[in-house]
Amino acid sequence: MTGLTQHLAARIATTGPVSIAEYMAECLLHPTLGYYATRDPLGAEGDFTTAPEISQMFGELVGLALAQAWIDQGRPAPFTLAELGPGRGTLMADLLRATRRVPGFHDAARLVLVEASPVLRARQAQALEAYAPEWIGTVDGLPDAPLFLVANEFFDALPIRQFVRDGAGWRERQVGVRDGALCFGLSAATPRPELAHRLEDTRDGDLVETCAPAAAVAATLGARIAGHGGAALVVDYGDWRSLGDTFQAVRGHEKTDPLADPGAADLTAHVDFEALAGAAGDAAHTRLAPQGLFLERLGIEHRAEALAKGLSGPALDSHAAAFRRLTLPEEMGSLFKAIGFHPRGTAPPPGLEA
Ligand code: SAH
Repeated sequence: MTGLTQHLAARIATTGPVSIAEYMAECLLHPTLGYYATRDPLGAEGDFTTAPEISQMFGELVGLALAQAWIDQGRPAPFTLAELGPGRGTLMADLLRATRRVPGFHDAARLVLVEASPVLRARQAQALEAYAPEWIGTVDGLPDAPLFLVANEFFDALPIRQFVRDGAGWRERQVGVRDGALCFGLSAATPRPELAHRLEDTRDGDLVETCAPAAAVAATLGARIAGHGGAALVVDYGDWRSLGDTFQAVRGHEKTDPLADPGAADLTAHVDFEALAGAAGDAAHTRLAPQGLFLERLGIEHRAEALAKGLSGPALDSHAAAFRRLTLPEEMGSLFKAIGFHPRGTAPPPGLEA
């Protein structure tokens, strides 16, 4: 047994089976044994890759969209330029390079990164050395100021709970121990007032997921944006209202058993954008757009052509492959979605107009 399996088994022996959320939180964020606490998981040698790691175009276009939203709202100064879960800092570095010539944008920006992992904070410090970022651990520490924010593949890392419908009640899916190994089980059925709306669109045996931390983060962003102005762009995989089991583990770019080696695989779940939009209700939200459409509206074809002019041979091939990967429906183009938050009565951020 690895350290984290032992730790979880001992905890379960003392206090009983844990929720999927408790399991996910321990696996990802345990201060010494957790997945994000112990490694940089991104890139070809890591466990998974993300849009900004695939191509510089992603961060550039997101940056120009946020800068345009800032201009549309009258160039508030100072403002907070923030990212949730910045990974290696690649998106933010591309965003800042692309917005260098937007008059006043950099001078007015205070760069704040919300990051739990010390390993990734160090990577971000390297990538963003020139821009003096500040780090905070949770969105509660975001300054009371206009907020222009991006979050790519952040919400999918937040701990979810799972509930299986049983009549008018719900059985929670849990992690327990059987014969010395971690296993899934179900609690007894109980009524769940917070799932009342899911009695309408589910049948016996259906599984639904909730993510209280995601709702709490969205509520904070919605309140900041409604109170001070700003915009948030959230990109992740998921859909408008989730149904079914989306809890998954990825290791070395392959799906694996989420209970097999806790702390050694990335654990994620699809994002329920309806729940985010509901929780951020102080602010207005845009429609949900597939990533491919969002990037096309932001001009990815022009940017791809411009970059292609300076490339040839294998570099050109890999640039073309990256463009396809980000935009094509059978790649990331439709599984990933984008949503924007903005103050009521203001224009939606570019790329997410109705
Ligand atoms: N946005 C980056 C990285 C995505 S990986 C990219 O697109 O490449 C998820 C990121 O969220 C990592 O930086 C991880 O350390 C961070 N993260 C995960 N859970 C977190 C939490 N609860 N609080 C703060 N950061 C978290």
